[in-house]
Amino acid sequence: MPIKRICCIGAGYVGGPSCAVIASKCPDVQVTVVDLSEERIRQWNSDHLPLYEPQLDDVVKSCRERNLWFSTDVDKAIIEAELIFICVNTPTKLFGIGKGRAADLKYIESAARRIATVAKSSKIVVEKSTVPVKAAESITNILQANVKPGVKYQVLSNPEFLAEGTAISDLVSPDRVLIGGEKTDQGREAVEALCWIYEHWIPKEQIIVMNTWSSELSKLAANAFLAQRISSINAISAICEATGADVSEVAGAIGTDSRIGSKFLKASVGFGGSCFQKDVLNLVYLCECLNLPEAAAYWQQVVDINDYQRKRFALRIVESLFNTVTDKNITILGFAFKKDTGDTRESAAIYLSKYLLDEEAKIRIYDPKVEKEQMLRELTSPMISDNPDRVSKLVTIYDDVYEAAKGSHALVLCTEWDEFKTLDYKRIYADMLKPAFIFDGRIILDHEALMEIGFHVETIGKRLTR
Ligand code: NAD
Repeated sequence: MPIKRICCIGAGYVGGPSCAVIASKCPDVQVTVVDLSEERIRQWNSDHLPLYEPQLDDVVKSCRERNLWFSTDVDKAIIEAELIFICVNTPTKLFGIGKGRAADLKYIESAARRIATVAKSSKIVVEKSTVPVKAAESITNILQANVKPGVKYQVLSNPEFLAEGTAISDLVSPDRVLIGGEKTDQGREAVEALCWIYEHWIPKEQIIVMNTWSSELSKLAANAFLAQRISSINAISAICEATGADVSEVAGAIGTDSRIGSKFLKASVGFGGSCFQKDVLNLVYLCECLNLPEAAAYWQQVVDINDYQRKRFALRIVESLFNTVTDKNITILGFAFKKDTGDTRESAAIYLSKYLLDEEAKIRIYDPKVEKEQMLRELTSPMISDNPDRVSKLVTIYDDVYEAAKGSHALVLCTEWDEFKTLDYKRIYADMLKPAFIFDGRIILDHEALMEIGFHVETIGKRLTR
């Protein structure tokens, strides 16, 4: 069944790029991405998109106002569409009286209620947000409880696997597309309609159809496995530091085993981003609700090791700087949670800055893509909850890395931006206080060359001899 109009609720890191790619690959389909945030929509309609992602500008420009539209008129877009993607955020609850830390589905619920309130014709509703297993059932219940005569709904699961920083290439050439749906005639028809969209550019054999609950769980499981690999190699990095082994050599050795593979084996100061921790906690919560405490404890360890890794690194910074950082200038290199994105959610830099602020350090921050207001907002967010006055007194944001480093006691590399590999470290060293320290939280720098210049270098999973 060819689809003529799509609506996407949520113009964020998933909704914007994924609908831009759909619009570019399906020129005969009208795609409207809607959001409650007027500012976000204004930016999507401007030359300064609300998020940085390689190739995104070109894709958006190629089809905006041809068959790709960004709007705050949620109701109109819902009414006109035959197929609606739900791409809203599903954050972890900050507080709660239930078991563990559940996903907060308030945005999913409000999107479903909006559809139920305004829809005048049948809709295929596609859950693209990452959700706990059986969320599609809750969406169906909300829609059916408010259904109008002659209107029918089919809810599908179609989790998104893009990674920020490579979103466009992931969307254009995904490893696979997952679609979960009911095995009824209406369910099959809805699945076929969604397949029809993806088949515009994705080979049929890469589109995997399964039952709805398997599809929902597959997304949580995929992210939990990726996060688990990072925590596993980070747990090994602690052993390396204690023994004199080198985690990069160990990762290289185990990665050549074809049963293990080399991807996601890079030790670091820990994973960040809006998804890994949230999705693992989602799985933990699910295990607890299903009365599977041992399984819950297993997955909880993935998050605990990540906390441990960040704290261990912060402690090493303090210990190296003669056990006090009070009033010392510490320059954080990179605030995004990884390179090639401006997204700062759950970034290691936030946690490290916070630990160092707790030790009374003066923090300077440089990131090539993240805006100043965003950094300050993160450092005073409820998760971190530092006092805004203290943050504005102790934190300075720079747009020139050399100025940031001038007069610093230490540099702490938190994001693996390529430009950090080619900085003029001789110039930086000359302008820093001595002894000058570099803490490489991503293992990307040439440690020998830095030591040659005179830096005291510390990194993850390796003891450097000097
Ligand atoms: P985001 O916060 O960037 O975007 C969500 C948008 O939804 C926001 O702009 C918000 O204003 C809007 N919104 C919320 N409720 C709304 C409503 N009722 N009507 C209209 N707009 C509404 O989130 P994101 O990073 O795009 O993630 C969305 C979902 O996709 C999450 O479940 C996430 O776990 C999942 N996901 C994210 C990534 C990623 O890399 N960011 C990758 C795969 C999956």
